[in-house]
Amino acid sequence: MKSAATTIEVTAGRIDSVTLALDGLIRRATKLGVAVPSYRVGGSRVVTRCGEGGRDVKVMITEVVVTGGRVELPGGWKFIATLEHGEKANVVNRSHCDIEVPVAYRTVGPACDHCHQNRKRIETHVIVNAAGTFMQVGTSCVHDFLGIDPAALAWACAFARVCNGDLDDFEGMGEVDPRSRVYDLLTVVAMTIRSVRAFGWHKSQEDRSTRNDVLAIIDWTTKCPGPQPAPASDEETKAAEEALAWCRNSTDDSEFMHNLRTLVSRDYVEPRHLGIVAALWPCYERTLARKVEGANSKYFGTLGKRDQFVLTVDKIIDLDGVYGTTHMHIMHDAAGNVAVWKSSSARLDVGTTYDVKGTVKSHQVYKDVLQTTLSRCACVARKQAA
Ligand SMILES: [Zn+2]
Repeated sequence: MKSAATTIEVTAGRIDSVTLALDGLIRRATKLGVAVPSYRVGGSRVVTRCGEGGRDVKVMITEVVVTGGRVELPGGWKFIATLEHGEKANVVNRSHCDIEVPVAYRTVGPACDHCHQNRKRIETHVIVNAAGTFMQVGTSCVHDFLGIDPAALAWACAFARVCNGDLDDFEGMGEVDPRSRVYDLLTVVAMTIRSVRAFGWHKSQEDRSTRNDVLAIIDWTTKCPGPQPAPASDEETKAAEEALAWCRNSTDDSEFMHNLRTLVSRDYVEPRHLGIVAALWPCYERTLARKVEGANSKYFGTLGKRDQFVLTVDKIIDLDGVYGTTHMHIMHDAAGNVAVWKSSSARLDVGTTYDVKGTVKSHQVYKDVLQTTLSRCACVARKQAA
């Protein structure tokens, strides 16, 4: 018989428990001598599910493709269910079989069609043959009648539960596992803009982090009845789109920007990535500010000539190299012209203005800003105005 593949749709938060359960079933299948199933974890996609209060939420689904694992019985019999007998009715544990369990078995007594002995049984098993004849068999007769270990039937029921996605009832009850939630990228960025403008930007580690604030705004709109936060305005949406376009086109090869570019190449955000995506807007704003700062920059000094300048330090980048650390000073003069000076010994103070004696080494454009590079600088801090 050809072993058919079954595709299980697993929400992201449950993928580990499903693969763990399958691994355990595979180990037990080997011990029981039943056909060992195999599985592979396939692609993921975002689907819309009904969340709290009947509102749509987006959920990440991963496909797990399971092959084999059907318990083969001799004589053309197929195992379809184990019945747990109760006072008034039975719990029906289906096997991984496409034949429906007749409704009568929901309330049937614990009889055995093999030995016809009337005794109290905790569970019985329902099988069917090619002719459509059903039989109910007690556990102690399973080996007699079918020649297999009854534990293989319990295994088949456990396997079916995983394949049917009934591993737990959490999602069956209409709840969506928060770990499986995903958020619309544009909404996340738009709400980051709203939060940062109101409260400033706060790292994920901080108490009132931007990440949590954004989550509160978005979840409010899906969880709480009553007055809702306003949806993203046209202005917020446009600003978010610009920030996203900037990020996608950025050529900055830092690891942070690489991660950010990867995350904004999709149109949804997973909860674990909300903190990084929330940093997109402050990053973009800083770049905008830098562009404005450098916009008026012109080259100054004469190439190769040593001269006297007054410069304020904006930023120092420490570059680790074979010969130790080099401190790259980014500075500007009173006219807003940008100067760069690399020093292996001196490290000036950011925000301080210096009298600088240095040689004009080169004139270069860096990220659309005209920069004058200095060398062999002697710097004396100016007295701060009181
Ligand atoms: Zn029996």
